Amino acid sequence: MKQVSDSCFAVLNEKNRVCDANSGLINRGGGVVIDTQSDLSHSRQMIEMFSKVWTKMPRRVINTHEDGDHVWGNQLFEGAEIIAHRSVPERMKDVANPKETQKLLHGVGRLLTRVLLKALHPGIVAAGQQLRQDYNFDGIELALPGTLFDTRYELDLDGVEVHLIYVGPCHQVGDTIIHVPRERIVFAGDVLFRQCTPMGWTGSYEKWFQCLDLIVQLDPAVIVPGHGPLCGIEGVVEMREYLNYVRDESKKCYDAGLTSLDASKRIEFGPYGKWRAPARLYMNVERAYRELRNEAPDAPWDTAGTFDAIYKVARAKGIQVEY
Ligand SMILES: [Zn+2]
Repeated sequence: MKQVSDSCFAVLNEKNRVCDANSGLINRGGGVVIDTQSDLSHSRQMIEMFSKVWTKMPRRVINTHEDGDHVWGNQLFEGAEIIAHRSVPERMKDVANPKETQKLLHGVGRLLTRVLLKALHPGIVAAGQQLRQDYNFDGIELALPGTLFDTRYELDLDGVEVHLIYVGPCHQVGDTIIHVPRERIVFAGDVLFRQCTPMGWTGSYEKWFQCLDLIVQLDPAVIVPGHGPLCGIEGVVEMREYLNYVRDESKKCYDAGLTSLDASKRIEFGPYGKWRAPARLYMNVERAYRELRNEAPDAPWDTAGTFDAIYKVARAKGIQVEY
């Protein structure tokens, strides 16, 4: 946990791989937690850290979007008001259903299932094995947000204003950033990945660029990304450059008739090869392809196929398979 301003704190997951999401804390006005971690044990550790700067249970929880790694600790905040964009509760039932992930982790834990599954879906097995190193999804039950908003929601925490600004869909449908103007802090959720390769699910490049531009305009001194270490504006600029680069390279490969998988194998990582899990590039290429094919930004993903494709890209590039 790091203090980032008078009343704001960041809880950072240093491994910075898939599911290693950050949380934010504000220790005034009843206490606010922003995103609740990927499993109950990580969420409990975060509550323990928070107790050093706010002794009571926080009165409010904000979910920056619907992905499991940001909402799977919600149930531990009994009695708290959970706030999110209006789309989030329904989307959580769809994309953050803990049953699937629980089944997967138990499956890859059993030798026979693992062997059978590996022949079909090497990427799913690799991702499941990686997750088993740090996570246990047992016992998670969805606790849905009950306070919902459409474009903007404001809190007054004993005189400190907190603005929730809806910016989706860029990385996911419910994307919301949290701005604390007086303290020049932005909690960006997953519209910002830092030193790890962004994983975008539902949304468009255009929306994502607009959102990154908005963060720059807000002129924060510190940004807490959804994944990765703290940064200033330079983190936003760097991610914008990455997305721009991938979109441009994807267009060239698309015009040359390559599939999105072959394009991902061909596109150079460049300076972004130093980021965590560079083969997640595939998701950004596939998103560019969807736009080039005029497909809807909310066209569903084949999750197993996606994890397999990332596996294949890592193998083709001769790098460690990592998610
Ligand atoms: Zn995330």
